[in-house]
Parts: sequence; structure tokens; C-alpha cells
Amino acid sequence: MIPYGRQDISQSDIDSVIAVLKSEYLTQGPCVPQFEAKIAGLVSAKYAVAVNSATSALHLACLALDLGAEDWLWTTPISFVASANCGLYCGAKIDFVDIDLQTFNISPESLEIKLKAASKAGCLPKVLIVVHMAGQSCEMESIYKLSKEYGFKLIEDASHAIGGRYKKSRIGSCAFSDITVFSFHPVKIITTAEGGVATTNDIELAEKMSNLRSHGITRDRRVMVNKSNEPWYYEQQALGFNYRMTELQAALGLSQVDRLEEFLVRRNRIAKNYDIELKNLPLKTPHVSEGTYSAFHLYVVRLDVAKARVTHSEFFNQLQNSGIGVNLHYIPIYRQPFYKKLGFPDKYCPNAEIYYAQAVSLPIFFGLSDIDQGYIVSTIKRILN
Ligand SMILES: *Cc1c(COP(=O)(O)O)cnc(C)c1O
Repeated sequence: MIPYGRQDISQSDIDSVIAVLKSEYLTQGPCVPQFEAKIAGLVSAKYAVAVNSATSALHLACLALDLGAEDWLWTTPISFVASANCGLYCGAKIDFVDIDLQTFNISPESLEIKLKAASKAGCLPKVLIVVHMAGQSCEMESIYKLSKEYGFKLIEDASHAIGGRYKKSRIGSCAFSDITVFSFHPVKIITTAEGGVATTNDIELAEKMSNLRSHGITRDRRVMVNKSNEPWYYEQQALGFNYRMTELQAALGLSQVDRLEEFLVRRNRIAKNYDIELKNLPLKTPHVSEGTYSAFHLYVVRLDVAKARVTHSEFFNQLQNSGIGVNLHYIPIYRQPFYKKLGFPDKYCPNAEIYYAQAVSLPIFFGLSDIDQGYIVSTIKRILN
């Protein structure tokens, strides 16, 4: 089976991890701060806080922005469940904003309409999490403007998007947001096995996140409640977690970041090939918005279900039966049984429903060979022609 995505591990990645295994520190050593500095430098953000997953980073980001039980968190229904779950971890109420059918990202128009209604009803969101679906940036300028007009905070879930660009700046620079989160799960652009990072330009948010990732404990005497000169003394001031990244993960990350450019070039090349090869078929290839450079974590096509001679599920099954590990990113989150219990009806967001009835993620990853891509293309043509 050709998977839809997978990691690429080089000898230098392996050497980098082995060096840590032979060193003094397996956790809380020098690699994590080095990795943080490297990510911050890469995306031109002032601070980066590394943690054990993007899910943890999203949770800490919500906590740092003081999301609590009386608050609303809004996000997109077309994402991994973690983009919404992080709000529930904080006890907040969740709602979904419909997507744009060209980009599969949150639609600024739908957002504005929903904000107007929420403003009248007195239930504006405290935090909006946008997701750069498949690696392509949302329309951050319009969304940022709305955040100022309606007074909410902005988190970018850029789990798909490290290395991507929006209007010449790297995603993660937080030019139009408070915090950006990246994932380093093996299917993503670069990997640390499990791992994530949050970037920000706000020192208070950075300090809060790094404090909460390690139990809410501080050893900084300047901020202590009790005055003590004892050398062993530390204080827990908040209820934090153990969300720390290990040295092994950071070492792998340091080595993988060096390969990011090469990964991005290859992914964009594969996407371009699909664009060319899949013309004149009853499906839509991904739209690339002006001023964006996608990291192409996913290559999502939409089957033209009115014109195609197979149904969406027949198309999907026939590809899987041919050894092509297609996937569907994502089932609208509000359709999950857990969310239905919170009261969401099945067809809550009309565009997300259209997307869900048509979308298929084709394999795209650094190690996908031209031969395998040729096989995928010819199989699609055989099924649809
Ligand atoms: C993968 C992913 C996450 C979760 O990342 P982990 O590092 O596995 O916790 C969150 N949001 C989106 C959009 C993702 O794709």
C-alpha cells in the first residue's frame, strides 16, 4: 500500500538522535532550547516553546490566552479533532465557522456574518483557531482585521504548514496572530516522532506556555511568592502539566529542520505533477491562492460527483483496493459522536458538508517516487475515464 504520507529519515537524522543517547541528558538538556531557537529563527518569531505534541501546544495556547469556562472558542469543522478539543480541555464552549470551498480554510465572509450575529446576541468568541488546511495559509489579513474589530484572540493551527508562506512571511511569524502551533507527527512536513511547538512574539504568552508545560513550576526567584534563599527551593504557582519535549525528539527535529527546504520543494513538485496529470477529469485539483506558498502536507482533490461515473465512496474504495492509501481529511468535527452529544446537527456547516461528500487526499510525501505517482495517476484515469 502506498501511504498518503510518511516520514523520511536520513543517516544524519539517525546520527543526531544517537549522539543524544550517548550524552548526559535524555530530557531537559541543550537540544530543546536549540530546537526552539532554530524554529523561531526559521519563521521569524521572537519565541518558540517546544512540547510533546501539537495537541499539547494548542492546549497551552488556549490556557495562555485565558480561555475558560464562560468563553467561546471558534474553529473550522474541517480539521483534526484536536483543533476543537483544546477548547473543551479549558472548559470553554465550542462553535464552528464554515469553510471556503476553494481553499478549504475558514471563510472570512462566513466568519464576519457569524461575528455580526454573535455580537448582537452577546456571545462573541474569546479565541478563534484557524487551520492552514493542507499547508496553505488562511486569509490572515482579513481575519486579523475582524479580530481587532470584534476583540478576539487568534491562534493559527499550522500543523500542516511549517515552511509555508503568506504574503512573503513564513507561517509562524505571528504577524497576524497571537500564537502559531506546528505539529511534528511523522505524517507532517518534518518530524520529531511526536512533538509540537508554539511560536509567539509576546514574552508573557511564551513564559506562560513554558511554565505550564512543566507543572507550573518556577525556579525564577524574581517571580516567587515566598522569599527564600535556599538552593533547593522552587514554587508551583499554577496547575501545569508534563508536556515537555525530550532531547531525542529535539535532536531529530534539529536535523529534520535542515532538510525542510528539500522536503518543501519535493512536495510542491509532486503537487505540480498531479495538477498537470489530473486535468480534464471529473475532479477539482487544489486551488493555490495568490500570495501563498503551500507546504503541501496534503493534496486534496474534490470529485465532481455529478459528472463522475463512480460515487465518492466507490472512487475511494477502488483506489484503496489498488494499493493506494487515500484518506479523507477530515470528517466535519461536529459529526463526531462526541460533538453530536454537545448538540450539533449533522449538516451544521453547508460548505463543510459539500467538501466532505467530495474530498479525497492523494498520497504526497518526500519519498513518493515518480513511478508510484505515475501509477496513482493512471489508476485515477482508469477509474474515471
Ligand atoms: C496533526 C494535527 C494536529 C495534532 O498534532 P499532534 O502533534 O499529533 O498532536 C492538530 N491539528 C491539525 C490540523 C493536525 O493536522
